[in-house]
Amino acid sequence: MHEISYWNRETETMSRERLQNLQLELFQNQMHYVYERSPFYRNKYDAAGIKPSDIKTLSDIERVPLTTKEELRESQARHPPWGDFLCIPPQEAVRVFKTTGTTGIPVRIALNKYDWEEQFQEQFMHHMHGYGIQPSDILFVPFAYGLHMAFWGFHTAMERAGVTVIPGGGLSTEERIKNIFEWGATVVCGTPTYILYLGETAKRTGQPLSESDVRIVVLGGEPGANVPSTRRAIEGLWEATCYDDLGSTELYNFGFDCVAKKGTHIIETLYYAECLDPETLKPVPTGEIGELVISNLCTKSMPLLRYRLKDLVRLNEQTCDCGRSFLRLDGGVLGRSDDMFHFAGVNIFPSAIENLIREVPEFSNEYQLVLPEMGSGKRLMIRIEPDSSDTSQEEMHQAVSAFVKKVKHHMTITPDVEIVEIGKLPRFEMKARRVVREE
Ligand SMILES: [Zn+2]
Repeated sequence: MHEISYWNRETETMSRERLQNLQLELFQNQMHYVYERSPFYRNKYDAAGIKPSDIKTLSDIERVPLTTKEELRESQARHPPWGDFLCIPPQEAVRVFKTTGTTGIPVRIALNKYDWEEQFQEQFMHHMHGYGIQPSDILFVPFAYGLHMAFWGFHTAMERAGVTVIPGGGLSTEERIKNIFEWGATVVCGTPTYILYLGETAKRTGQPLSESDVRIVVLGGEPGANVPSTRRAIEGLWEATCYDDLGSTELYNFGFDCVAKKGTHIIETLYYAECLDPETLKPVPTGEIGELVISNLCTKSMPLLRYRLKDLVRLNEQTCDCGRSFLRLDGGVLGRSDDMFHFAGVNIFPSAIENLIREVPEFSNEYQLVLPEMGSGKRLMIRIEPDSSDTSQEEMHQAVSAFVKKVKHHMTITPDVEIVEIGKLPRFEMKARRVVREE
């Protein structure tokens, strides 16, 4: 394990009992705050017959209605541009962003000075210490940020903490590789998909990033550092340690990996996390897989209470080897309930297939899952590229048949596999879309 560093040892290692008392008090205050300031919440809670004063214990929170992204979209469509869930006058905003739009119309997000300067900083300091980033580090961000919050946030917070930050937007992949060497970058951040692509391109063009000074890779936007084969692929290409950064544009940055690498911690002094059965929306017993629901306990601009993230996780309340009592998501985010598809009587997570693909050295890291039309009787099709043009047809044939057996063993379905030319599958810089439905 790398050396353990805390941002605030006292709050990060306090007993679960003290932590939960604090969370109850913060939740009560936040519910009063949103009820008084936002018509969206007042109407919602009045309709459900619940008042902020009804919350007397943490289990009372189960009675508070959930909030969804669809509701935020509808609210902004009805009352453009901000909707009626903002708790500040819009002119108080100093930063605006949009969600990525992967799952529909983007939602507009506003942050006032307090949230952007103090809350963001407090959140990212947990991340920074969790990963072991030092003020002497040099961060390279290989993205153009535009309206995307994540990289703006990480850039700004690291800069304020004394890290040297190199904004790598507006550059080609080749120029980014050159700049990582030129500036002696020690930390990079990005989506697992793009970080893999960057690593592969560098290797192919004879300047492997394993020879750079990069020692820490921070991954976000998709499951990455907690998917074993993806982590191995990235750590092999970069010779650096991978950590997950968990957050969403709506809730900001609520989770980080620590050097113990035993799952992803939730910053429980700032967030309240629940794990619910996606069907019944009741809590699942600790240790079972369910949907992550998060409440902002401390932000002021547009706090979200009981927000459904649609991420499937397993909570662990045991104190971590790093000493933190903050609960952990075992194995990070296991998949999205939205991405999960039902095929031949089985629930399938694309990340589980991805894990099997990335275990095969003859395959590149790219893939596409083609879902046949319902009732067509066709099999699930997995499109794959060879990793190298040196692989013979015979070797590829053997790798494919071993892979098909493995998929059958793990998921009880037999897929068809199509091998396409190297570079033919789409590459993604931001969130990857690899599941295609045949119409
Ligand atoms: Zn830990």
